[in-house]
Amino acid sequence: MGNSDLAIGVDIGGTKVLGGVVDLQGQILRTFRKDTPREGGDALNQVISDVVNELLTTHKTDNIGISAAGLVSSDRQTMLGAPNIKDWDGVNIAKALNKISGINSVVENDANSAAWAERVYGAGKGLENVIMITVGTGIGGAAIVNGKPLRGANGTGAEFGHMRVVPDGELCGCGVRGCFEQYASGTALMRHTKEAIAKNPDTAKDLLARGNGTVNGLKGSHITAAAQDGDKIAIKALEITGDWLGAGIATLAMLFDPSIVVIGGGVIDAGELLLAPARKAMMREMPFVGKHPVPEIVAAKLGNDAGLVGVADLSRN
Ligand SMILES: [Zn+2]
Repeated sequence: MGNSDLAIGVDIGGTKVLGGVVDLQGQILRTFRKDTPREGGDALNQVISDVVNELLTTHKTDNIGISAAGLVSSDRQTMLGAPNIKDWDGVNIAKALNKISGINSVVENDANSAAWAERVYGAGKGLENVIMITVGTGIGGAAIVNGKPLRGANGTGAEFGHMRVVPDGELCGCGVRGCFEQYASGTALMRHTKEAIAKNPDTAKDLLARGNGTVNGLKGSHITAAAQDGDKIAIKALEITGDWLGAGIATLAMLFDPSIVVIGGGVIDAGELLLAPARKAMMREMPFVGKHPVPEIVAAKLGNDAGLVGVADLSRN
């Protein structure tokens, strides 16, 4: 029998498997990490099991949650599709971990995990209807509806990154064109920046100098830092990205009527440089102008630990 006040969350990243013991206040009491094995599949299941068992040596609990990017079945056991991990598609992870070391666990999508952490401990604390948008390489989405994570019939709901915002638009990694994440993600921010540089080559020198002098040397963090120092091209690129983000949020506000939209992911380091244009675009694109209630748009509070903390808490019920 374990301590029901504690839970173990495991965040599966591209480079590391990070596990942590989390208490009821969302405090991480201990962490343990191992490298993510490149071969994925069984090797990864073994590493997850090792991480959990190491944490169990000091903290006993029956609550164990695994958070990973991908489509997770609604019974919280099976990875239906993992975009970044080899040989994990269709794998019943809960069953595999039970077979390896007898532990019982639940599996959750990483965006759901992070949104849940923000809803219980972070920017959306105590709220019943919360949308979270993770703006990174792509766009992750999650919805807390009437106090519960929206899973959908198959567990694959709230994939906001792939709603179509531009007919015949940019080709997306998912196989169709014009997805939200092609316009409002960190990858899109980079494209908007390159386009702005091509239009303004004379004023782009300062920005380019932050990388290796070429557009290909630029990183997202350079753009954020340049914008914070007042660089006009970087500010403009964040404005364009924020504008797309806010326009998408107007649509999501119509569908879900959240009281708050929490923005996480690497690009949120830009803070108000991204959020202010997003709010403006949401107001501009909001149907029933002046009549439909609008959600607050705020930055996530919990940062990189959100997935681990959120999935730990989700494993309690
Ligand atoms: Zn897509």
